[in-house]
Amino acid sequence: MRIVLVGPPGAGKGTQAARLSERLDAPHISTGDIFRENMKNETDLGKEAQRYVDAGDLVPDEVTVKMVKDRLAQPDAQGGFLLDGFPRNAAQARELEDVLSELNQRLDAVLVFEVDDEELVKRLTSRGRSDDTEETIRHRQQVYRSETEPLIEHYRDIAVRVDAVGSVEEITDRAMDALADEPDD
Ligand code: AMP
Repeated sequence: MRIVLVGPPGAGKGTQAARLSERLDAPHISTGDIFRENMKNETDLGKEAQRYVDAGDLVPDEVTVKMVKDRLAQPDAQGGFLLDGFPRNAAQARELEDVLSELNQRLDAVLVFEVDDEELVKRLTSRGRSDDTEETIRHRQQVYRSETEPLIEHYRDIAVRVDAVGSVEEITDRAMDALADEPDD
C-alpha cells in the first residue's frame, strides 16, 4: 500500500508510522527523520536543512522534493511505503503525484491523525526534541494549519480520519481498521 500520514506536530504520526510499517511490511519514510539524520551527520543536506528545522519552518520544496524522489526510487519502496511528513504543502503534493504517475502508481490512502490542540502542546513539551521549544511548537502548528491541513481537502477521496487520542495500541488498531474500510478505488 502507498500511504501518506497527515497530522499536526505531536499527533504521534511517527510512532504510528513505525508500527504500521511493521504490520503492512512497507518502509516508513519520514522526511523529518531523514533531515535529523543528515543534521546529526553534518552532511550538506543536513547543513542546508538545519536552520529551517530549528525555526520550525518548512525546508524549501526544492531540497525536500529531491530528497523524497531519491528515497522513493530505492528498491524497498517499490512495493509500497508509508510517507510520514510529506507532502506538507500543495506544491509537494503535486510533485508526489507526478513522481507516482510516472511510475504508474498512485496513493491508496491518506491517514489523517486528529488530536485537539491542548493535548498536542502537552505531548510536545514532554518530548524533549531540540525543535520542541514552546515558540517553535506554536510556529510549527501554524505552518501545519496554513500549509498542510488544506491537503486533507485535496485528498478527500482517499482521506480517512483516525482519532489519535488513546493508547498507542488502540490508535494503531484504529488506523488498520480505517485502512481496511477504505475502498480500493
Ligand atoms: P517532523 O519530524 O515531521 O515534525 O519534521 C521536523 C521538521 O523537518 C519540520 O518542522 C520541517 O522543518 C522539516 N520537514 C519535515 N518534512 C518536511 C517537508 N515535507 N517539507 C519541508 N520541511 C519538512
